[in-house]
Amino acid sequence: VPAAVELRVRRQPERGRYARADVEAVLDAVLVAHVAFVSDGRPYCVPFLQARIGDNLFIHGAGSSRAIRVLAAGAPACVAMTAIDGLVLARAAFDHSANYRSAMVFGCFHAVAASERAAALEAFTNKLVPGRWDEVRAPSARELRGTAILALPLEQASVKLRSRPPEEAASDATAAGWAGVIPLATTYGAPERALTVDGEIPLPASVQTLTGRTCH
Ligand SMILES: Cc1cc2nc3c(=O)[nH]c(=O)nc-3n(C[C@H](O)[C@H](O)[C@H](O)COP(=O)(O)OP(=O)(O)OC[C@H]3O[C@@H](n4cnc5c(N)ncnc54)[C@H](O)[C@@H]3O)c2cc1C
Repeated sequence: VPAAVELRVRRQPERGRYARADVEAVLDAVLVAHVAFVSDGRPYCVPFLQARIGDNLFIHGAGSSRAIRVLAAGAPACVAMTAIDGLVLARAAFDHSANYRSAMVFGCFHAVAASERAAALEAFTNKLVPGRWDEVRAPSARELRGTAILALPLEQASVKLRSRPPEEAASDATAAGWAGVIPLATTYGAPERALTVDGEIPLPASVQTLTGRTCH
């Protein structure tokens, strides 16, 4: 890891948070991680499903994909996760903003050892869809061999948060016109049964639990 990673938010520093609990709260609310790294001198930023388990952020993928290959070899990475909570509308174009929770994690991933892959995959699956692992067929040896699981320790991380109404100059705040927040949320919608599934088969508990909930 480059030694000089700067974890302090410089613009609007009052929005910065550095406690582990703040980092975990963002990771646990967000499904997607954008993982940035350099390969052959060129920057890439690749989205992955992510799950925090204990002190690590996990991603998984085909061992043959570029990102997994380069990251498993220890390339320095920067991972960004964002929950956007609202659009903030002000009377001046300049004062428009967004409410959000975002996290950045720096470091190097390492590949989970083959002997621990099944347990890691179980934890990963259950983190994304609680209880799902026990409802499905376990991976075969071939499936496990083809799946790499990478872990990134949460040692260098920062959070930035905004959660407030628009901030406007006094002259704008007393002017005519609308200002406020349009909330935004990601929710689990009504489940769509695969065509191959008999309509008589009841929804599994894991699916029932998520349905209708707000993801972040
Ligand atoms: C949804 C969303 C929309 C945004 N839109 C804009 C925009 O349109 N224009 C704009 O200028 N900025 C925007 N930002 C803010 C932007 O992400 C950065 O926070 C900003 O560019 C940081 O600049 P800096 O010079 O303070 O920090 P930098 O010097 O770039 O970073 C210093 C350190 O601060 C921490 N840090 C910085 N930003 C974040 C972050 N977002 N989350 C967690 N840690 C962080 C990191 O550890 C980083 O290494 C947005 C943020 C979010 C989440």
